[in-house]
Amino acid sequence: MTKMIVYDVTTQASPLKRKNVETELFGQAVSRGVAIGKVTWLYGQKRQFYRINLNENQIEGELRRFRGAVSLAKRQIKKIASQTSESARTNKTTILDAHLLILEDKSLTTKIADNIKLRKVNAEWAVKVVTETYIADYKSINSTYLRERYIDLEDVSNRLLTVLGGEKPEFLPHKNAIIVAKDLKPSSLIELSQSSPKAIITERGGWTSHTFILAREMDLPAVTGIDGVLQQIETGDEVIVDGYNGKIILYPTEKNLREYKIAAKKFKSVKVESLKTAGGKLKTLDGRNIIIRANVDSPQNFLKAERVGARGIGLYRSEFLFNQYKDFPSEQQQINAYQKIAQLVAEEAVHIRTFDLNVENLTGEHSEKEQNPALGLRGIRLGLLHTEQFRIQLRALLQASAGSKIAIVLPMISDVSEIILAKKILQEEKENLRKRKIEFGNPPLGAMIEVPAAVFTADDIAREVDFLSLGTNDLVQYILAVDRDNPAVADWFRTLHPAIIRAIKTVLAAAENNDIPAIVCGEMAGSPFYAPILIGLGAKVLSMNVNSILRVRKIVSGIAFEETQEIVKTIEKCRTADEIEDLVRNYFVEKWSHLFSSDILTPRKS
Ligand code: PEP
Ligand code: MG
Repeated sequence: MTKMIVYDVTTQASPLKRKNVETELFGQAVSRGVAIGKVTWLYGQKRQFYRINLNENQIEGELRRFRGAVSLAKRQIKKIASQTSESARTNKTTILDAHLLILEDKSLTTKIADNIKLRKVNAEWAVKVVTETYIADYKSINSTYLRERYIDLEDVSNRLLTVLGGEKPEFLPHKNAIIVAKDLKPSSLIELSQSSPKAIITERGGWTSHTFILAREMDLPAVTGIDGVLQQIETGDEVIVDGYNGKIILYPTEKNLREYKIAAKKFKSVKVESLKTAGGKLKTLDGRNIIIRANVDSPQNFLKAERVGARGIGLYRSEFLFNQYKDFPSEQQQINAYQKIAQLVAEEAVHIRTFDLNVENLTGEHSEKEQNPALGLRGIRLGLLHTEQFRIQLRALLQASAGSKIAIVLPMISDVSEIILAKKILQEEKENLRKRKIEFGNPPLGAMIEVPAAVFTADDIAREVDFLSLGTNDLVQYILAVDRDNPAVADWFRTLHPAIIRAIKTVLAAAENNDIPAIVCGEMAGSPFYAPILIGLGAKVLSMNVNSILRVRKIVSGIAFEETQEIVKTIEKCRTADEIEDLVRNYFVEKWSHLFSSDILTPRKS
């Protein structure tokens, strides 16, 4: 069952009484910077909505939008019912009939419409308020059978909200908000970015969560892992976010506000400064060529990355298109997006990863709650199971690569047979386009190495593909069995664990032995602390967030390849992550401290 995110731009009473006493709360710093602003509180998990007070002249339009959503939701249900196989018919259609009846129930839809009219609120908010009242009524019924019916109502409410959310939001929260949420989805952040938020605070997430990868790309300070933060903050409160030290300050004193305003201003000017520096070819002091590519998903960010010396795009996470369209983009929409980015990268390729989604991300009938989504139906598994969307994406990639440098990356590979099957499908789609006399290119194919099984079989995989793409975020998660999005286990997310060092070495050697490139594209590659280790392990191509490029360039051009090999030789003798971290830190302090600012010399555990 889908959950929704609701955010409220009006003042909302907090469950706890306001204290109004300056309070510091500590979490994990996941995106650098300092910001001061007013809180916008987000609710729920999947869809985001916010209460907005409408003007009189907006009400008619909003009512039309609501009625349109009801009609579309009904059409969707009828379509699913008509596609249901005979054997599955009884149960499924009974449920769908119940959903249809709810949507046809005039008392419900009239109440929602009245709510829009009388309270002058947006449709999402009205749906939420009215259905919540109905659900509460159902839950208080004595009969177990009737009590359970609230689930149907919740389903219908979610469907309506999803349909409403499928459109571009007409209204956004106030500008410069500090977004506070239990968990923030990347798609929610993309939507919110239109109103230029200033910072993010969440209870859940980690350094390698997509939301914070995105936050760093957007230069948005962020702190996560602050338990119970929603109970302590309310919409409209002023808060300081210190994304250097993983701290937030509620009800700040005048003195702190003054000091942090200076820090926030400095943070802004550093961003502008850094963009003035352009880069050419990158070499270590002893002449080893290192290529830096960018992890970007938008043309604007690629232009920014190019200005600081990025050569092409090492990782384009195509699922961000899914976030943008709130569903699978059409073949043509994909062709347009891929061509646009490929034209910009010109001679250097853009490595486009096929959708790395899980079933929970999907909308409609395929969406499903999984016990363990990271180990579930995601990435290539989803593509090979529901081949329809996979084929559309491959066709779009093939067409967009006619005359453009595009490479295809397959996510979550755990068995070489998945590559063989994907290649077969790719071949079929080429035939398909050839028959239709549609022009297409011949993009190289690569595999993400991010699952332990792929490390052990890296040599076999390397023989089947044109390049390897090392995803250290998932690699650490899966090798160490530590959820990358869960701050409670952040201390176990040890990038410099001996097992990770050995895995990376194995993969880089497999690429070298098979004479194909390997791109390291997890967050590790963008860390000035870890990049020298990767280089010492044999990495020649690092792909990173646009805002990491200058920092990593500075380090790479100030160190010798020989030194990185020397440090790797020593760490290979270590037995624990602690030992390696200490060793690396001491080496850096001794030899390279002139290249680092002090905050970087503390290795990030997550
Ligand atoms: C990775 O897993 O390291 C990676 C680059 O992919 P993502 O962060 O999108 O999972
Ligand atoms: Mg990954």
